Amino acid sequence: MASDTGSNFIRTRIDSELADGRVQQVVTRFPPEPNGWPHIGHAKSICLNFGLAASYGGRCHLRFDDTNPEGESEEFAQALANDVRWLGFDWGDHKYYASDYYEQLYVWAESLIERGLAYVDESSEEQIRAHRGTVTEAGTPTPFRDRSPADSLDRFRRMRAGEFDDGAMVLRAKIDLTSNNMKMRDPLMYRIKKQSHYRTGDAWGIYPFYDYAHCLSDALEGITYSLCTLEFENNRELYDWYVQHVDTGADPAPQQIEFARLALTHTVTSKRKLKQLVLEGHVSGWDDPRMPTLAGLRRRGVRPEAVRELCDRVGVARANSTLDPALFDQIIREDLDAEAPRVMAVLDPLPMVVENWDADVDWIDAPLWPSEFGLEGERPIPFAKNLFIERADFKVKPAKGFKRLAPGRSVRLLNGYVVTYTGHEVDADGNVTQVRVSHDPKTRGGDARSKVSGSIHWVARDTSMEATVRVYDRLFAAAAPGLEQDFLLDLNPASLKTLTARIEPALSFAEGGSHWQFIRAGYFFADVQDSEPGKPVFNQVVSLKDSWKKQETLVQARKAANAPGKVGDKPDPLHPKRAKALRDLGIDEDTARVLTDDPAHDAVFVAVVAKHAQPESVAKFLVNEVIPAAEQAVKLDVAPGIAALLAMVDSGKLTTKLARKVLAEVLTGGDPVAIAKRDGLTVVSDSGELLAIATKAVADHPEEAQKFRDGNGRMMGFFVGKVMKATGGKADGKAAKQAVEAALGTWQDQMVQILNESKASDNK
Ligand code: ATP
Ligand code: MG
Repeated sequence: MASDTGSNFIRTRIDSELADGRVQQVVTRFPPEPNGWPHIGHAKSICLNFGLAASYGGRCHLRFDDTNPEGESEEFAQALANDVRWLGFDWGDHKYYASDYYEQLYVWAESLIERGLAYVDESSEEQIRAHRGTVTEAGTPTPFRDRSPADSLDRFRRMRAGEFDDGAMVLRAKIDLTSNNMKMRDPLMYRIKKQSHYRTGDAWGIYPFYDYAHCLSDALEGITYSLCTLEFENNRELYDWYVQHVDTGADPAPQQIEFARLALTHTVTSKRKLKQLVLEGHVSGWDDPRMPTLAGLRRRGVRPEAVRELCDRVGVARANSTLDPALFDQIIREDLDAEAPRVMAVLDPLPMVVENWDADVDWIDAPLWPSEFGLEGERPIPFAKNLFIERADFKVKPAKGFKRLAPGRSVRLLNGYVVTYTGHEVDADGNVTQVRVSHDPKTRGGDARSKVSGSIHWVARDTSMEATVRVYDRLFAAAAPGLEQDFLLDLNPASLKTLTARIEPALSFAEGGSHWQFIRAGYFFADVQDSEPGKPVFNQVVSLKDSWKKQETLVQARKAANAPGKVGDKPDPLHPKRAKALRDLGIDEDTARVLTDDPAHDAVFVAVVAKHAQPESVAKFLVNEVIPAAEQAVKLDVAPGIAALLAMVDSGKLTTKLARKVLAEVLTGGDPVAIAKRDGLTVVSDSGELLAIATKAVADHPEEAQKFRDGNGRMMGFFVGKVMKATGGKADGKAAKQAVEAALGTWQDQMVQILNESKASDNK
């Protein structure tokens, strides 16, 4: 799976170690502790470890780091394995459990004791802490530090045999009580814990600590790069010490490399807190669609593609930062754009009567996709005298800027007719209960000859259906939950709204697991658990626009990923005049600011525009792709290369993703055309070739093809994935989709057929 292929400090290091022969094969691992469900932060680690290994033709192990019996379970291990697979990664035969290494770790511990490198300490926890000293004061030995190896060995064996109580003593490495690094001041290796383990049962009454177990598990498995989050930076010295002092035979020795955690505002990712939300019933479970768990995201309707894209775009950095979820929302929208057919649903229905409509139901063919997609498929929508529109789309006294229906105005009913206000009714409390309009028969299908205030969606009253729709908002109202008060007090009381919406007929066939865009409302997903045949329940995946003011743009996010900073604040441009000049070229505020803040980049911009006369596209490309990929300011002499690269992207010869692969070389003076040719990177958009590939994929997977024909929209992604795989990810997405549709016959056609049949039976 092509994840993490851009340049970053880890890749730079791997490249050089592969080049000088220290490492022959890249072996990584994803090491979750099975004590909770994986969340979006884990996804970052999964994509990085699996993606990195795959991109170097190496391998990545799935290792359950289960060295603490408390709270660990097979249920969690299963959930973790499931989610890794869902994200699109595969560990092959390399699934391991640290608990399988207990015996080996124990034998190694004995050998450290025998060599005088570890000792059993009977001091209490407090005594050990007191003797360890402080950052400014060296530690001092406890009375047990100099006991003989034979004495320690005897006690360690009796610890294992269960002769002592919890906390009576511990095994410590004998390293250096004066080290500047507190972790090196005789760290703990083993503790007594008489607790059953979900895999080893009561076989062990002592358990190793993370620092001792993790590095040696890496060594045992032949891991070359042990990637972990930044808070382990100080543990690296200890990691290396154990690897050096235990004869594991690992060659090369595994190395720990730290990277920044993925964190989002308005989100908690601590497993303890997530568990509390579940156990106390603040959410419906680990897979509640508001949860940042992968199970929650999946249930909401986020596709693994979007999660991988987020991890890719955030990149790998060495400075911690916190992203605004608005960035993730935007990625989800981009991902679903070509996945979700357009349909109409009215979430908060207000009755509308078309007074001059005397005809029967008028079935209008409406496209399922925006015309520019070039995708076929339409469904009939019924227009009739009685309709529903969105309550918010009619205002008796419209505020300034309101562009929808109001007294004296006309609006276009999307794909239907232009209607003009004629009257409305209110109840005793003044609430509008009905709007009356007249329609213009010449405007069928949404033709816009008449002047209108705007376009709104609608459904017919008698031929629409009720459906439960859940609209989600952020689970936490505070940007940093728990910072100022108990995190539970920061919960957003309005994070879930359950509505009874009215949906158009085509949607009644929506199968659990299908994605839809409800026009003007958002992307929705038919819930896999709660939908029944003919009775779908929809979850809002994401709204169409961000309703949260403090939006962080991608530009800021990428800057933040490269340099620590606050989220959400918008600094002023350093060169306001120049920034304004760029804005006058149609470039947005953030892009203009980032580009002009560094005159070197501004100069590259001017040079590239001279070759490639599209300032907007140049600016975006520089700010979103080139500058983040460069380690220093981009130099003027690479401008021709960037212009050539951008020309390839804009003409569709190279996807942005592929362009990222070429970028590092272009930044050091490479010619993009030659590089793309050398690496065989240009996009496959030849429809004949793609059709042949798609046809073969269909022939190879008859069961999936049948599911698709039976209306399972998810199978589309399956086949497009096959085409992508067969072309090594180089197929143009839209062309691939068209090829698959041609190979299968479209399911939209099927749906229209079913609808026509039901229409025919209605008319009887
Ligand atoms: P918690 O502290 O909430 O219990 P954890 O980090 O201890 O989480 P593990 O199961 O030990 O959870 O993590 C498995 C792997 O995922 C580790 O390598 C860890 O570094 C990585 N990881 C966990 N959270 C994040 C995050 N937010 N961003 C990136 N990687 C993460
Ligand atoms: Mg951990």
